[in-house]
Amino acid sequence: MTPRRLSKLTVVALVMALVGAGAGATALAQAPAKTGVDAALKAAYDKYKGPQEGKNADYIPALAKVDPNIYGIALVAVDGSVYTMGDIKSEVSIQSISKVFTLAKVIEEQGPDAIARTIGVDATGMRFNSIVAVEMAQKALGGPEMNSLVNPGAIATTSMVKGATRADVWNSILGFYSDFAGRPLAVNQEVFKSEADTNQRNQAIGMLMYAYGYIKANPQQATDVYTEQCSVSVNAKDLATMAATLANGGKNPVTGKQVMKVENVPRVLAVMATAGLYDDSGKWLYRTGLPGKSGVGGGIIAVSPGKFGIAVISPPLDEAGNSVRAQKAIADISNTLGGNPYAAKPR
Ligand code: GLN
Repeated sequence: MTPRRLSKLTVVALVMALVGAGAGATALAQAPAKTGVDAALKAAYDKYKGPQEGKNADYIPALAKVDPNIYGIALVAVDGSVYTMGDIKSEVSIQSISKVFTLAKVIEEQGPDAIARTIGVDATGMRFNSIVAVEMAQKALGGPEMNSLVNPGAIATTSMVKGATRADVWNSILGFYSDFAGRPLAVNQEVFKSEADTNQRNQAIGMLMYAYGYIKANPQQATDVYTEQCSVSVNAKDLATMAATLANGGKNPVTGKQVMKVENVPRVLAVMATAGLYDDSGKWLYRTGLPGKSGVGGGIIAVSPGKFGIAVISPPLDEAGNSVRAQKAIADISNTLGGNPYAAKPR
């Protein structure tokens, strides 16, 4: 039947069926049931609250002083429900988790190709601050590309944020992060100073990225703004809300604000799945199926698209730089709640 031959009644019926199907689809992609979430958070909290392996990052002196016993879990569902367990008052620096949101910002401003064609969207398979990864990405060596979630790519991504002055760039970044968190975020000045005083390696990486043309101008400013973005202070609920905004097609489920375009969200999640937990990203994806991102401040976020965002803060890290407790707790909770997007049930 061609559309021209449809009677008015058939059109009305078709529209109603489509609206119905839409409602059905939303119901399928729904937040998990409340009682189950509380129980899952409590079970994971209790299971891992005893002593765990790992230790605080200490290459940034201020991070070594953070209380290693901070342990907070938060889950924000796409319907805006917030679930928490443990310490959600204590704040840590966001560190590398910030890289996700600066990547999102540049994709919003310049489109997905701006990143894919320059920095790349492949795993390096190397540590987050690897200089070898920069060398290997050069055509003559034929190694893998980089991505915006390891330091060289992240500093270059920060250099791409639009703004006439440093203050413009900074306010634009901080405002964007705050929209994801649903409250005005601020910088932990002690952490910023501590890292700025000791980040000679990142400064060298910024220069190298400039030498190779990934950064177009002012590499010192790029590294400095990057260092400041890593020092933004967050609690577990902030991080979970940021993750939930990605889970909810770019719309903050708590404030209702559309923070980024729905069509850009899958690009950001893809890079998180590829490289969010550094050189352990494959292991993480194998265990959980979730796009995630860790930071050396001790936080990890993970996104179950169409369902929830989750975050855990616990500063002691493993060898790769990922929070030991956060990995375990998020994997347990998500697997209990059916968060793995690859785990379709047979019909
Ligand atoms: N600011 C940190 C650094 O550049 C972030 C690293 C991280 O969280 N992995 O070294």
